[in-house]
Parts: sequence; C-alpha cells; structure tokens
Amino acid sequence: MSANRIPITILGAGPAGLGAAYRLARRGKFNITVLERGGAVGGNAGSFDLAGMKVDYGSHRLHPSCAPEILADLQRMLGNELLDRPRHGRIRLHGKWVHFPLKPADLISHLPPSFLGGIAWDSVAKLIPQKKPDTFAAVLEAGLGKTICRDFYFPYARKIWGVDPDSLDAEQARRRVSAGSLLKMVRKVLNAVPGIKRKGSGRFFYPQNGYGAISEAYGCAAVELGAKLRPLTSVAALETCDGRVQAIRAIGPAGEEVIKADHVLSSIPIAQLARLVQPAAPEDVQKAACALKFRAMVLIYLVLKTDRFTEYDAHYFPDSDIMITRLSEPKNYGLTGVPGQTVLCAELPCSINDAVWRASDSELAKIVTSALETAKLPVRSPVVEVASRRLPQAYPIYSRDYRQHFECVDEWVSGFDGLITFGRQGLFAHDNTHHALAMAYALDRCLEDDGSFDEKRWEEYKQEFQKHVVED
Ligand SMILES: Cc1cc2nc3c(=O)[nH]c(=O)nc-3n(C[C@H](O)[C@H](O)[C@H](O)COP(=O)(O)OP(=O)(O)OC[C@H]3O[C@@H](n4cnc5c(N)ncnc54)[C@H](O)[C@@H]3O)c2cc1C
Repeated sequence: MSANRIPITILGAGPAGLGAAYRLARRGKFNITVLERGGAVGGNAGSFDLAGMKVDYGSHRLHPSCAPEILADLQRMLGNELLDRPRHGRIRLHGKWVHFPLKPADLISHLPPSFLGGIAWDSVAKLIPQKKPDTFAAVLEAGLGKTICRDFYFPYARKIWGVDPDSLDAEQARRRVSAGSLLKMVRKVLNAVPGIKRKGSGRFFYPQNGYGAISEAYGCAAVELGAKLRPLTSVAALETCDGRVQAIRAIGPAGEEVIKADHVLSSIPIAQLARLVQPAAPEDVQKAACALKFRAMVLIYLVLKTDRFTEYDAHYFPDSDIMITRLSEPKNYGLTGVPGQTVLCAELPCSINDAVWRASDSELAKIVTSALETAKLPVRSPVVEVASRRLPQAYPIYSRDYRQHFECVDEWVSGFDGLITFGRQGLFAHDNTHHALAMAYALDRCLEDDGSFDEKRWEEYKQEFQKHVVED
C-alpha cells in the first residue's frame, strides 16, 4: 500500500459503508479503513446462520428498480448466485388472503363487495378539490381514499411506526408508500395482468446464500483492492478541531485506540454521530438529535421440523388484531436450505425497552404462534428451535416536525470539513438497499482523487435522494 494514499475512514459496514469502500478502493488513491461495531458485515441487510441455513433480518429483497450500474456490479460479483425470483406473497385483508403483489382477479374474487364499493365511491369523491394534505394520513386519504386507508394503510402504519397516522409527516407517505394514489395502485395491479407486464413487476433479485451476500461481496471486493475491514470496532468519539475532523476514538478487540482521520464517511445513525462529535454539539443540535426517533424491531425465528410451511415467500398482516407485520419463509426466497426443516421469520415492530423488546424467546414464540392461529395459519409441525434478533434502528419515524430536527443536525454535521454522513441511517431515510448503495456510488463521484469534495454536487445528490420511494 502506497504511503501517500489519502486515508479515509468509513463508519459502518452495511451496504452503504461497504458500497463506498469498494467504489473508492477501485481508484487506488485512498487508504480505506472500515470500522464496524458488529461481528459481521451487512448491518440491517446482513444474514446469519441458523439451524444450518442463512437467514436475514426480516424479509429482504433486492428490487429490480436498482440502478443498472449497481446491478451490473452485483451481477459480476455474485454471478449465478444472484437469483431472479418471482414474488409470491399473500396479504390478509378483511380476514381473507389476497395475492401480494395485488392481482386484479384475486382482488375481485376475495374482497367483500362493500370494500370494493367503498374504493369506487372514494375514487369519485377524489374529484372534489381538497386543500394540500400535510400529514401522512391526509396524503394517503387524498390519494387512495378513506376505504383503503381505514382498512389497510392506517392500521398497518400504527403497527409499523407505533404512532397515529395523523401525527406522521406527509413525507412519510410520499417516501414510504409507492402506490400512493389510486392511479398508481391500479397501475401496480395491472402489472400483474399477462400481456401488459412492465419491467421488473412481480420479480426481485436474491442471493441464494442470503441477502447478506450483497454486503459480503462488496466487502470482499473492497478488501481485495486493499481496504481494511475492522469488525467488532465501535466508534466512541469523533474528535474535531477548528471545524475539521481530526481523529476517531474507537473501541475494538484490542481496547481503545485513536485513529488519525482526515476524511470520515459515516453511515451510522446521524443522531448518534452528532452525539459522538467532540467538542460536543451546541444544545439546540443535541435536542434536535434526541428528537430523531427510530422504530425498533424484534425478529422472531421459528425452526420447524417440516420441509415447508407454505408455498409463499411472505405473508403481510396489516390488521390490528395480529401483532406481527410480516412473516417470511427464507427457504421460499431461493435460499439453500436443510431438507426436512424450514425457518419462519416474524417481524414485530416495537420500541426499545418496551415489553416486546424485553420479552424472552419463549414469550415471543407464543406471540407468533397465536398470531398465526388468529390468521388461520396454524403452526402444526414441531418447533425445534426459537431464536430472536433485535434491530434498534429499523424504521425512521417521520413525526410532523422531523424535517426541522433533521436539517438542524445535518447542517451542523455537514459543517465539518472532512465529514460526510450518508446511507439509510446517516440521512435518516426509509430507504431500500439499492438506495443506500446509490448514495455510496454518488459519494464516490463527489470525492476527487486529491481528497477534495464537491459539496455542490453532493447537495444536488441529496435533493435526488429525497425522491427515493421505498419498494416493499
Ligand atoms: C425489517 C426490514 C426489512 C427490509 N427489507 C428490505 C428489502 O426487502 N429490500 C431492501 O432493499 N431493503 C430493505 N430494508 C432496508 C435495508 O435493510 C437498508 O436499506 C440497508 O440496511 C441500509 O444500509 P446502510 O448501510 O445504509 O445501513 P445499515 O445496514 O443500518 O448499516 C449501518 C452499520 O453501521 C454500524 N454502526 C452503527 N453504529 C456504529 C458505531 N458506533 N461504530 C461502528 N459501526 C456502527 C451498524 O452496526 C451497521 O452495520 C429492510 C429493512 C428492515 C429493517
């Protein structure tokens, strides 16, 4: 490694951090070190071993709307391992199972006429002009009508974010609900009609050794190009002087150390980053950082002694009578599994330290099995193992004043020379993996070989990132 390469420290080894490490390492101009708190790479998009197979942190798919440049890199790195799979899920609406993504014939035959009549009435009512909606609830009601909101989106939103849809910002609807109007929803439904299929509809990419293989591939490629990857190394402080980044204090397997740093690219949560900067942030920034809240999630894994639980990759539960939001069966995503055995993964949003967060594995298993009983999807095979994982930062909560808090923290952090925050956690975005990777690729385009950073271009990219819409 050449001594005159510019040192760059990347915080976090999720898709964003590793995507940036790989893209920058390709240029041969930088000395790259990635610091990761966990023992493995991938962050929320990682995988781990359970009962002889890889499982993910909840249902993860690579959406086909991934930028061609990123997809080409992944196809090259993963080769045949990157599977192109049909989506095959079900959603429980009014106690009935409907195919998800939605299909017209299925919708008409399974949903009660009162629900379909309500949607028809709402589409007529939409013709009456209304004032510009300013909350999550108002945007969705204006776009989708009362019936779909009342019976589907609002109960789902309460479970996902743990707050009333009226107290969420309009932005949460724009960024999080890709079918935000009846027209978009009809288009999505029509995608399923043979003959008018659009690009990518009803399909997804998935690495056959688990979703975490995406981050592992970026990590391996970066290491092959000379980057250093340091797992189990947690960033404890970021020291600055005269508005410039100076050093990072990290705690790793060998204890505390100080790493000299001129350029720090951070994909860790922006509120955490603001708290780590030394000297400490002014009081208004600290308050704003505290106001940026995430919804947490407990993932419950049941290992069943049966070859397959159902033929579906995922079941979605918007109704409030069922605590979990989604149940996935990793084997049905194309994962190599163990014969005679399958794993179910249930997603249960919660808050850190609430009763769900603190529940034991056996209590969590009971929540899942009784939810599945209610959904008339009982677990009949023996449960041979239960495991759980906890995600402290699953979904950003866009409360109605979130933007002012985010901008306050972002402006302060971005004011330091040599410090850039990016990725899903770094920009407090609800984004998919391909969006987090797009941020990494954009960052690579903004950092010049001599270490100078094109701030103007990065600000333009940040405006673009705000147009990202999450795909389920
Ligand atoms: C339940 C669920 C389902 C999802 N499904 C999909 C899907 O189907 N398709 C899709 O595209 N996306 C999906 N996503 C989103 C996807 O997980 C994210 O887009 C992706 O993980 C973002 O990558 P990132 O690198 O920006 O952040 P992260 O993956 O969160 O990585 C941040 C990293 O920073 C590390 N870190 C934090 N603090 C420190 C510290 N102090 N020191 C060192 N390291 C630190 C963390 O350990 C972590 O590894 C889903 C997310 C969830 C929660």
